[in-house]
Amino acid sequence: MRKTIIALATPPLKSALAVIRVSGDEAFNITDSLFNKKISTVKSRSSFVGKISDKHGMVIDEVVLLAYPAPRSMTGENVVEIFCHGNPLIADDIIKAYLENGAIYATRGEFTERAFLNGKVDLIEAEAVNDLINSTTREARALSLKSLSGQASTLVINLKNQLGKLIGLIETNIDYPEYDDVEEANQELIKKEVKPLQKQIEKILSSGTEARFVHEGIKVALIGKPNVGKSSLLNALVKKDKALVSAIPGTTRDIVEGDVFYDGLMFHFYDTAGLHESSDFLEGLGIKKTQEIVSEADVLLWIKESEDKDEPLPVQKKQDQILIVVYNKDDLKTPPNNELHTSALKGEVENVLKAIRDKAITSEQTFSLPSLANKRQLSLLGRINSDLKQALEDNEEGAPLDLISASLLSAYQGLKALVGEEVSSDLEDEVFGNFCVGK
Ligand code: GDP
Repeated sequence: MRKTIIALATPPLKSALAVIRVSGDEAFNITDSLFNKKISTVKSRSSFVGKISDKHGMVIDEVVLLAYPAPRSMTGENVVEIFCHGNPLIADDIIKAYLENGAIYATRGEFTERAFLNGKVDLIEAEAVNDLINSTTREARALSLKSLSGQASTLVINLKNQLGKLIGLIETNIDYPEYDDVEEANQELIKKEVKPLQKQIEKILSSGTEARFVHEGIKVALIGKPNVGKSSLLNALVKKDKALVSAIPGTTRDIVEGDVFYDGLMFHFYDTAGLHESSDFLEGLGIKKTQEIVSEADVLLWIKESEDKDEPLPVQKKQDQILIVVYNKDDLKTPPNNELHTSALKGEVENVLKAIRDKAITSEQTFSLPSLANKRQLSLLGRINSDLKQALEDNEEGAPLDLISASLLSAYQGLKALVGEEVSSDLEDEVFGNFCVGK
């Protein structure tokens, strides 16, 4: 039997109301001992108005209380939600009264974890709860809601079922080659079945990568030689005097950053301390930070002046990083033909924002299709994709069925892991540890 858990579901601040959530087998019994109405006999979702008292019989507050009998509750257990007056002292005393009667304080994400363990939500839906709470734009919120309502899970479950059927057929062919009434799992059939699956996974993977930008924003590192105008461009982009602009090369000694919301996307800009070697200790520190920022960036915005046209890229670009070159100071110097250009000094930077958005989001469907976009989901999708590719390749080369089946089985397990069937407890910690308490 799992212990009954309790947590404050709203922030611990003074407000009109605070909500406390309780879940577990004993949630109703404990409530009976503190509340002036009996709730343990309710058979369906019910609401009450009454008084909660501490163990000495002192009334703590008059509250509204919702009782959700198992299994028709958020966690699948008996759940009580208490709406008390929004003074943290009141909420604290109510929680204390429950703790004294056998409840324990919930850990991060424990309510959602229980919902997952009791089959109320799958892992993708559970992750969406967290994404929804943490979304910083309307666009991210809309995507999270799609996942929360199961649209992304349905995609995965359909693929899993299709693949499961095929594996079943192949296995039957391996185990009972003498059966005539079973469809033959020949090269052609395997290709016909696996190819569309693999293409679909590839599509989900690439739209997920773009959807990650919608959820998490885009990290853009401004790189380039000292004095090309990185700090000035950052200021122009975020429309604030954030970065120190100076005519002396190498004056940006720390990472200066700023956020801009543009056309449905959050951009996180990082100005960098020049990448040139420096004997100055402080600047040396800045260079180390720069390297970190550059390696974590989604987009490298390389700022140049027209005379630097043939200079090599001053940093190592990773394969999945987007590189955009922009020629600055076009008020002074004519930029090369057909190249993106701007004047940070004049503040004409809308075209730079648009260029980044166009490269990062190649399809507007990214904003509307259900997506799998967090690191865990993307890395699993990558694995599933390569398993399916491997199966196709082996099939093409006429490899034995059991070898092909092994790759397909690995992809199948990947799909199961995506929705959280047979998850390891480490993974659970990782997923639910990111939550707030009370969720
Ligand atoms: P950083 O070292 O790359 O960060 O360069 P800064 O932003 O500090 O700029 C270096 C110098 O170039 C400063 O004197 C800026 O005023 C100047 N500058 C930056 N952008 C422009 C621009 O678009 N046009 C002109 N004319 N000067 C600029």
